[in-house]
Amino acid sequence: MAKDYYSTLGVQKTASQDEIKKAFRQLGKKFHPDLNPNNKKEAEEKFKEVSEAYEVLSDPQKRSNYDRFGTVDFGPGRSDFTWDDFTHYSEFSDIFERIFGSFGGMGGFGDSFFGNTRSRGPDLDLVVRINVTLEDVYYGAKKNIRYRRNTLCHTCNGTGAKDGKLSYCNTCGGTGQERITQGSGFVRMVTVTSCRKCGGRGKLPIEACKDCKGYGSISATEEVEINIPRGVPDNQKIRYKGKGQAHQGSVGDLFVIVAVNDQKGIVRNGSDLIVRKEISFPEAALGSESEISLFKESISLKVPAGTQPGEIIRVKGSGLPRMGGSTSGDLLVEISVSVPKHVTGKQKELLQQFEDESGKKRIWNKK
Ligand SMILES: [Zn+2]
Ligand SMILES: [Zn+2]
Repeated sequence: MAKDYYSTLGVQKTASQDEIKKAFRQLGKKFHPDLNPNNKKEAEEKFKEVSEAYEVLSDPQKRSNYDRFGTVDFGPGRSDFTWDDFTHYSEFSDIFERIFGSFGGMGGFGDSFFGNTRSRGPDLDLVVRINVTLEDVYYGAKKNIRYRRNTLCHTCNGTGAKDGKLSYCNTCGGTGQERITQGSGFVRMVTVTSCRKCGGRGKLPIEACKDCKGYGSISATEEVEINIPRGVPDNQKIRYKGKGQAHQGSVGDLFVIVAVNDQKGIVRNGSDLIVRKEISFPEAALGSESEISLFKESISLKVPAGTQPGEIIRVKGSGLPRMGGSTSGDLLVEISVSVPKHVTGKQKELLQQFEDESGKKRIWNKK
């Protein structure tokens, strides 16, 4: 059932703004929770009801909507009044200020009061994660991402107003700021915050834009080409200015976090890359030249004679490019030496001879 704001305030349907204001002041004091210590909860409810009624009937636009349709739109598809919708704290600070103290810590009611006193611009930045491979980091890459965001409404150019026509906000008098007084007695705290009614712009649409319903922005799917720089570190944040959420004429930024996936067989250490290479015992003993494939590259590796298992050979400048620079890290090749599991008769003979050459006496397995 629709609420009867007129009877809540005890005024006639034809009441003037002054009569409405006077009625609210009287009831506001009457239901002040400080003055109703025995039924605080009930008083709070009543207090909220009369505040809601005043919020609607003191605003010519809201009052006329209420008169015609019997309901009020407090936000996108919302007809429930919350303390966020109340725009007259500064006018009635003498009624509200004591309540701040007494409602502190009393649950939702007091908390939402205090919530209003903090300056809190909406966070319009967006964060998107993108996964890339080490190969992308090695060569650099371009990736497309799709995400949803509120973009500026082009019909009204983000103003939210039909034909772009705005009027000064009567809550803050066009300053975009509200002063909220808190505390009681001699101790008072004045907080200056963005005007809740106009969001700090100081202006409001005379008539709402049809396409965005006065919000100045519409939800849309956005596609952005992300440039993955060569050598980008893991979890690097890349900023795209103006690609975040749009709200009342301002736009946030998009932050893309580049997460670099591990790649089997390759370990990244800054701009160095570490790989393993298995060589034979004769290669290790005599030295050799071979190729290592790294992504699309073939890198030549010189193994010096006498290389030991676990030794690391550094190939200068064959690692990842350093982001923004012209140099690259190194490729570190960790050598492992393979021992044959089966040997031919000839190989066995040669190996035995090889060992005999070193002058040690051995007793070889007969098998
Ligand atoms: Zn619009
Ligand atoms: Zn304002």
